[in-house]
Parts: sequence; C-alpha cells; structure tokens
Amino acid sequence: MIIVLFGKPGAGKGTQAPLLASELNVPTLATGDVLRAAVRAGTVLGVKAKTCMERGELVPDSVILGIIGEELSEPQYARGAILDGVVRTVPQAEGLQRMLAVSGRKVDAVLAFDIDNEEIVRRLSGRTVCERCQTPYTGREVGSVCERCGGGLVRRKDDEPDAVRTRLRVYDEQTAPVLDWYLQHGEPVTVIDAVGAVEDVTQRALRALGR
Ligand code: AMP
Repeated sequence: MIIVLFGKPGAGKGTQAPLLASELNVPTLATGDVLRAAVRAGTVLGVKAKTCMERGELVPDSVILGIIGEELSEPQYARGAILDGVVRTVPQAEGLQRMLAVSGRKVDAVLAFDIDNEEIVRRLSGRTVCERCQTPYTGREVGSVCERCGGGLVRRKDDEPDAVRTRLRVYDEQTAPVLDWYLQHGEPVTVIDAVGAVEDVTQRALRALGR
C-alpha cells in the first residue's frame, strides 16, 4: 500500500504520518527526515541538500528520486510506505510512478491535507522539533524535552519567517500542480480538512482510506 501525504509545509503531514503508520502497519518514508539526517552526518547528500533546505527551496528532483528509489527497495517497505513530503513536483510524481511500476506497484491513495496560509504561519512559528528523533511539537519552547526519546527541542532553520515565505511560494509554484497531475492520471485523491485536533485529522485520514 503506497500512500502519498500531500500538502503545504506545516499542514501536519509529519504529525499524521507516524500515527497512520501505526494504525496501518506500514512504515513512513519522509524525505525531509532522510535529508536532515544526511546534513547532520555531513554526507555528500547532506552537503548538496543543506543550502536548499535552509532557504526553504526544493532539493533537485534527481536527488529525491535517488533517495526514494533506494529506500523503497529496502525490505522494510515491502508492504508499502506512507510517503511524507515526497512528491513535491510533477517530475517526482512521474518518477515515482515509473519506479513503482517496475515492481508492479502504484500509488494507492493521495491524501491532500487542506489548510490556509494564515494557519500555516501560525503553526510553523510555534513549531519545535526533537533534534534526535524529529518528533514535531506545537507550542513547546526551544530547550524542552521530547516526550518520545528525551532529546532536546529545537527550531528548524526553515521555520524562520523568510524561509516559510519561500516554502509557501515554492509550494504554489511547484507542488500544487502535482495535485492536478494526480487527478488527470486518475489517481485516488482525497482532500482532508487538516485543521482541528490531531486525532480528528487522523480519523478523517483513516476514513478516506476506508478504515
Ligand atoms: P520537510 O521536512 O518535508 O518539510 O522537508 C524539509 C526540506 O527538505 C524541504 O523544504 C526541501 O528543502 C527538502 N525536501 C524534502 N522533501 C523534498 C522533496 N520531495 N523534494 C524536494 N525537496 C525536498
């Protein structure tokens, strides 16, 4: 089962992905997490991606397709994946479709998280993440302790106002057209109201998946 979580930065994809993963028993694959780990480790990939990420710009499609190709061939993804933040451009949608077709798979559902820009800016300016396990939090101060692993909470560089503005512009220009691409290709897209309590959004997502 391949599920694409689609939406603006801050729409809640990263919060919902692990919740859906445990309900559906399918692992998550978040390109942002893979890239941040590479930046921390100082690998060639990390060095290539760092500047784009800090500015809120997209990392090149070839890099992203390389990551998902490598990851999806791992045994842990044999039952499928919940893709969080992947498919941010039309070439990525095309590349993913080609890649899945090789193993007789396809995208089974696209969940499009719907939220307006005002709410995004409010959320991202109050967001911190665990520096160790990447769990996102809203309304917790930098320096608080992660409930899940005890790591310290930090603010992502790309949650600073300038980078957020860039990310929203990039979404409108490069990512929003992906939804039309999926609709034109007859993929099962469901729009989900992403505003409200975390558990309510999870329930909406599960209902959209027929659970
Ligand atoms: P995220 O954690 O999903 O918000 O991703 C953080 C940053 O990583 C993005 O702002 C991009 O710079 C980069 N990134 C993550 N996923 C992708 C992707 N699918 N395509 C291009 N860049 C990406």
